[in-house]
Amino acid sequence: MTNVLNIIGGGMAGCEAAWQAANMGVQVVIHEMRPKVETFAHQTGNLGEMVCSNSFRSDDDEQNAVGLLHWEMRAANGLIMATAEKHRIPAGGALAVDREPFAESVTAAIKAHPNITISYDEIHALPSEGTWIVATGPLTSGDLATSIASATGKESLAFFDAIAPIIYADSIDMSKAWMQSRYDKGETEEERTAYLNCPMSKEQYEAFIDALLASDKTEFKEGETAGYFDGCLPIEVMAERGRETLRFGPMKPVGLTNPHNPDMNAYAVVQLRRDNALGTLFNIVGFQTKMKYGAQKEVLRMIPGLEGAEFARLGGIHRNTFINSPTLLDREMRLKSMPHLRFAGQITGVEGYVESAAMGLLAGRMAASEMLGAPLPAPPRETAMGALVAHITGDAEAKTFQPMNVNFGLFPPIEGIKGGRKRRAERYKAYTDRAKACWQGWLGHSALDAAE
Ligand SMILES: Cc1cc2nc3c(=O)[nH]c(=O)nc-3n(C[C@H](O)[C@H](O)[C@H](O)COP(=O)(O)OP(=O)(O)OC[C@H]3O[C@@H](n4cnc5c(N)ncnc54)[C@H](O)[C@@H]3O)c2cc1C
Repeated sequence: MTNVLNIIGGGMAGCEAAWQAANMGVQVVIHEMRPKVETFAHQTGNLGEMVCSNSFRSDDDEQNAVGLLHWEMRAANGLIMATAEKHRIPAGGALAVDREPFAESVTAAIKAHPNITISYDEIHALPSEGTWIVATGPLTSGDLATSIASATGKESLAFFDAIAPIIYADSIDMSKAWMQSRYDKGETEEERTAYLNCPMSKEQYEAFIDALLASDKTEFKEGETAGYFDGCLPIEVMAERGRETLRFGPMKPVGLTNPHNPDMNAYAVVQLRRDNALGTLFNIVGFQTKMKYGAQKEVLRMIPGLEGAEFARLGGIHRNTFINSPTLLDREMRLKSMPHLRFAGQITGVEGYVESAAMGLLAGRMAASEMLGAPLPAPPRETAMGALVAHITGDAEAKTFQPMNVNFGLFPPIEGIKGGRKRRAERYKAYTDRAKACWQGWLGHSALDAAE
């Protein structure tokens, strides 16, 4: 058995994984290709560099799922959260940082750790032996990406995300929408009612197209569209190609009967599909979009049934390398076909600095525990960490898997607590209270295991 944990990538996930494992007494080597090999987004040779915004988003650990993730990472002595705190700058309820000093501080902490060595080299292929964590992020270098694709199958590695907006089920108005698959296709009742349908009249459709065409959009960067543009056009681009294009594409009104108004044929229908096993989240089918976030909310709430929609995540199209984790990874984040390799960070199909660091924290602890002879179970699903890792390692729909932010829709519902907007504050507080207790329990359990 090897006694060194190798980590490829010294970003959010790689640094957090190294920190956790090293603090458990394991020797760690981080392999980082920068500054020798650059990416289009990183600007420095620092570890833990923030490639775009300088915010770790909401720091509210009672009412916000990402704030809860902050809390869980702090409780686990996370490096990224502790360093963020040190370099915090005023940003209302958000945790924003002074970006360069933040990354310099992460780098200094890693360099100073007696159990961590940094090797500034690019790894070109998945290693066939040893204990490894692959945390190479959305901009994984070319050779390694090719090697991952050949180990996992070409279809299992994506180079961009095309995200359709995801909506909380309990914010959809079912007095207007209904559940039905086109032509009632399917063997079981569940399959025959797999889609949620929102009907539109001609006037509503025309107004929707006008709003779509007039909306604020994010421009594509050079090279960003390569390879994916034909397969999944953004809805606003489809609308630009012709006012009827969407009605003959994702909004076609065929094979459906509106039980609220059986005699009237809808002019167009927007379909939503279940996004998780719990049935708490739905994505809008075929609605990948580059509309700016504010515009998305405004335009999508014009859809009948979605007037009060709450978004678990908004749509987007970006450069992003990620694997189909629900089919490839086991519950402890190991590649099923090569269990000496774990994956962590954005490449596992989570989205965001915080989520990436969080998956690094888990992978680091799991790898170190395994090396120390006391393997760790995955954290409870009631925690933010557990909900997120359960989503990517099996709960998400593998066929339509797209990167995910942490959100309350991933948590198992609490019995006796009602849905709906009015009770939201109470519901979120119950989720976060339950999560904190479960996370403390899991941390205690892992500390005991490590000490034995
Ligand atoms: C352009 C862009 C903008 C983004 N903006 C935001 C944002 O504003 N907010 C947000 O929350 N998230 C953002 N993200 C998403 C994501 O959260 C961040 O990219 C985050 O840094 C991911 O963490 P990570 O550790 O998985 O990857 P990274 O932080 O990118 O770390 C991966 C590391 O691996 C190294 N590496 C890659 N291949 C190899 C190799 N073969 N050998 C050795 N080293 C290698 C890279 O140099 C890098 O240092 C953005 C992503 C991109 C691409």
